[in-house]
Amino acid sequence: MNRSRMETTLDWRDVHFKGTTVVDFHAHPSLKVSLFKRALTRRYRASRSFSPFAVRTDLSRLIEGGVDVLLSVIYPPERAMLEDCPPLQWLGHLMPRTYRKVFGQSPFDVANQLLDEMEGAVDRCQGRAKVVTGPEELRAVLDMPDERPIAVVHCLEGAHSLNGNAENIGHFARRGVAYLTLAHFYDNGVAPPCYPYPEDVRTAGCFARQRDLTKSLSPLGEEVVERMVELGMMVDVTHCTPPARRRVYEVVGSRAPIIASHVGSYGLNPDPYNLKDWELRHIADSGGLVGVIFMNYWLVPHATRQGINAVTQTLDYFVNTAGLEHTGVGTDFDGFTDPPDDLKDASKLPRLTQRLLAEGYSADAVARIWGGNALRVLREGWRHRS
Ligand SMILES: [Zn+2]
Repeated sequence: MNRSRMETTLDWRDVHFKGTTVVDFHAHPSLKVSLFKRALTRRYRASRSFSPFAVRTDLSRLIEGGVDVLLSVIYPPERAMLEDCPPLQWLGHLMPRTYRKVFGQSPFDVANQLLDEMEGAVDRCQGRAKVVTGPEELRAVLDMPDERPIAVVHCLEGAHSLNGNAENIGHFARRGVAYLTLAHFYDNGVAPPCYPYPEDVRTAGCFARQRDLTKSLSPLGEEVVERMVELGMMVDVTHCTPPARRRVYEVVGSRAPIIASHVGSYGLNPDPYNLKDWELRHIADSGGLVGVIFMNYWLVPHATRQGINAVTQTLDYFVNTAGLEHTGVGTDFDGFTDPPDDLKDASKLPRLTQRLLAEGYSADAVARIWGGNALRVLREGWRHRS
């Protein structure tokens, strides 16, 4: 036992950097690029504690962390946030141009601008990262010999970007968006959300607005989900209320892999944001993926600042309930989150590999969790060809 443990600890670098395609299924570099004009090519501070200005997925950290594929999620900040979090109104004075960009045009236009700006930021990485707009392009990048670029896949969070029109799904599918997280912080007329933060961490005076957790997917939401299945854009149920999630499972059926890109398990932390066992099994039956989020307060009821334990516990739970083939990682880095101190940015990801191997996961299992499953889901669920 001791001997095999030693052997596994010795080769974690090989497993992580050579034997594994590392996919982060949910991260938000675009917020830092577009709101704070951060360049992906520069290395900024990635503080341990919460800081809106920290950058956790810049190019150098992604390379250090061995990330091969980054699902880069575009999120146009929602207008309702200004009333729900009044201090944000100061942005109008402090950053007038950003404020106008984000709140002075429709969410559809903002989403497109953020996609453009992310593409520009990736272009400036001079071949070390590349936006891929379909599964074939992704395959082509992954098949490149050594020194290949990090593949960046567009995704979208919050159906407010559709401006209330299901046909706009087609536009985003043509731009290469792989999935849409239907809900986010506010009811967008498509899918009603859970609370943005657990009750005990809602900051004073912010995000206190009542959410109706009994609300389900709207008729427009059903139409959106239908269009997504038709076009081959994946449906992400993260942030949806439990009844809305249930309705998504019913509408999609077994026609497409369903994903929950950045969640925890209700079994370990009974919060409506997290998925119950039957949901984990349902997602597995659809051929989909559940990604563990790197935010302790979603993962366990009494979060400490060290979170790798909570992450591995949740991965164990997903593996035991959804199955090894349906478990993945969606860090939510750079989404104005407070990641665990021991997994605070992309450069720290190899620690998780080291830890999983020490806990007895095989190299093959680690490779599936990090990327094998995510790549399969992208192959099967992201069918749109532009
Ligand atoms: Zn989210």
